[in-house]
Amino acid sequence: MNLGDRRLLPFRLDLVTQFRGLTERRGCLISGSRGWGEFGPFADYHVDADARWLASAIEQADGLWPQPVRRKVAVNAIVPAVEPAVAAGMAMASGCTTIKIKVGDPAGRDRVAAVRDAMPEAALRVDVNGGWSLARAVEELEELSSFGLEYAEQPVRSFEDMVALRALVDVPLAADELIRIDRRFDDVALAADVAVLKVAPLGGVRQTLQVAQRVGLPVVISSALDTSIGLAAAVAAACCLPERPLACGLGTGALFARDTTDPLLPVAGELGWVDYPTPDFVETGEDLDYWKRRIQAAAEVLARS
Ligand SMILES: [Mg+2]
Repeated sequence: MNLGDRRLLPFRLDLVTQFRGLTERRGCLISGSRGWGEFGPFADYHVDADARWLASAIEQADGLWPQPVRRKVAVNAIVPAVEPAVAAGMAMASGCTTIKIKVGDPAGRDRVAAVRDAMPEAALRVDVNGGWSLARAVEELEELSSFGLEYAEQPVRSFEDMVALRALVDVPLAADELIRIDRRFDDVALAADVAVLKVAPLGGVRQTLQVAQRVGLPVVISSALDTSIGLAAAVAAACCLPERPLACGLGTGALFARDTTDPLLPVAGELGWVDYPTPDFVETGEDLDYWKRRIQAAAEVLARS
């Protein structure tokens, strides 16, 4: 792939609260024939993963998305590992009726209880990022099930443990890492009731639509802590799915103190399709050469695939 004519705009943006162990989000915007795409693989990712992120950025920048079948999608609010009272306040302020709560730390259960107390009708999801042992997951989910969970996302990490857990608890399970990292598209339905699909890690909107078909489960389109340019790609996938997806995990724009473009934030719990968002940020001091090298290496992998 020829990167010659493309412009690169690296960014390093502060987050409002620590998320996924990060206090800032780094990445690089890439220009194309129609607009811009976002390349934001995390620092420790392998070049094969980078290649999929690059494919997603190029697809967006060159305007290669399919036509949408809807213009708006429901999203969940995201509640990070904050104090229970803060969690309830964030959930209520979001305007969303589906709330995803990070658990796994000692305050996790109290956080879920506080949100449930504040919002008796809301659909609640928890995400453990594969952090529990099978035995602990059984114990925790038995307790959490009294709050009426829509699903628990990857309480355990491995495919085998997810299959075993599913037989032991009543709470529906969602697969994220099994799809994003392990790429178990063809048998994930044995291990989960819901598929969490992230557009950039899967290689773009069209790839995501194919994976959705392959996994054969209800789908939640979710963000990879994208800035609002990357979020637009995720919204596009959710708008193109033939079946309306469950509330999407795309309320993450609110986690950014600064953004790459006009922040894409839920209005009344929904996000709408954005055609070609334009970058709108000042110099962030991010290292252009680092991103050039990474993008070039990813482009070489893409060219071979
Ligand atoms: Mg997850």
